[in-house]
Amino acid sequence: MKTYRICLLPGDGIGPEITAEAVKVLAVIGERFGANFEFSEALLGGIAIDETGTALPEATLRAAHGADAVLLAAIGGPKWDTTDPDKPRPEQGLLGIRKALDLYANLRPVRIFAALRDASSLKPEYLEGVDMLIVRELTGGLYFGARGREAGVEGAATGGGPGLRAYDTMEYREFEIERIARTAFEAARTRRGRVHSVDKANVLESSRLWREVVHRVHDADYADVELIDQLVDNSAMQIVRNPAQFDVMVTENMFGDILSDEASMLTGSLGMLASASLGDGTALYEPSHGSAPDIAGQGVANPLAMLLSMDLMLRHSFGMHEAADALTSAIEGVLADGWRTRDIADAGTLPQRTVGTSAMGELIIERLG
Ligand code: NAD
Repeated sequence: MKTYRICLLPGDGIGPEITAEAVKVLAVIGERFGANFEFSEALLGGIAIDETGTALPEATLRAAHGADAVLLAAIGGPKWDTTDPDKPRPEQGLLGIRKALDLYANLRPVRIFAALRDASSLKPEYLEGVDMLIVRELTGGLYFGARGREAGVEGAATGGGPGLRAYDTMEYREFEIERIARTAFEAARTRRGRVHSVDKANVLESSRLWREVVHRVHDADYADVELIDQLVDNSAMQIVRNPAQFDVMVTENMFGDILSDEASMLTGSLGMLASASLGDGTALYEPSHGSAPDIAGQGVANPLAMLLSMDLMLRHSFGMHEAADALTSAIEGVLADGWRTRDIADAGTLPQRTVGTSAMGELIIERLG
């Protein structure tokens, strides 16, 4: 039996509650699909600050590097909010671990669960067949290029005269584009075989290099995948006009940041969104939501985004596609039967079908059989 080592980072707020469900469900998946999951648990975020004085302790980094995958719940909360630049902040843990693992590809699936269709801000007819994966470049582009400010720049002040100038630089190197393109093409091969590469090649030089390299990689190694170039402004429009056209969308860091938030709202629910951050070594999986301090400790948090992140882990880190498919259909089945946590309940939900975190976990386990 194959053994997979998973580093758990429960973090803060609702993190430990949803992590507990993930562990329970994984145990059942392991039994049913013949895998052995070994867990180590480490500190990250606010709890790490409380116990060690830093948001990303060395021991956590060692545990992450030594694992086959990292499963992170959520970090942060009002207790650690500070504007004092000398005080540690929980987010430093998150950014630090992404950097330390060199996680250059962020994957965010946008899938509509039939039972939750009414939660979307789009009319149901626009959601038919929506199942897309956004592959966002995570360690390059505008967020990491040279930036600065200059004072006394002639003509910069309103009405002329010396004033301030600020700049950010969008930079990409060939290898950065090549590796993210490969991630997208590989993902497309396991899905419907189509990649939209999103850029602004009519204006930006970095986008022209992006397009060149994406096509080079495609023609050399992925000619079986359909490749479509799309300008980012058009993509923003197409996501709400005809989202079902997309299978995999690959794009640079800032475009991906904006488009993935736009696309995530097609699902209408924060408690259902998963993400994977991949590099060439250990990958990290986490729900898109935060630590929900307003409901922490009440046993009402929705564990499904965490379970959907686990679905990504099973696929991308362990190649357990059958197990991941079973998990997805268990989630679909439970929702189709009308079960809801409070955040996804609506006027049509029967009060006796509104359940807490742990009951939702049990329902998924029952379905997994
Ligand atoms: P949030 O995502 O934690 O919560 C927003 C709203 O959604 C809240 O009303 C919350 O109760 C609800 N919600 C979120 N996840 C839920 C779930 N699984 N089940 C049910 N309801 C859920 O965002 P926020 O309130 O802006 O931030 C709270 C803290 O989380 C902050 O400290 C923030 O910095 C941190 N945060 C962490 C991450 C991360 O760990 N990746 C991401 C975003 C925010």
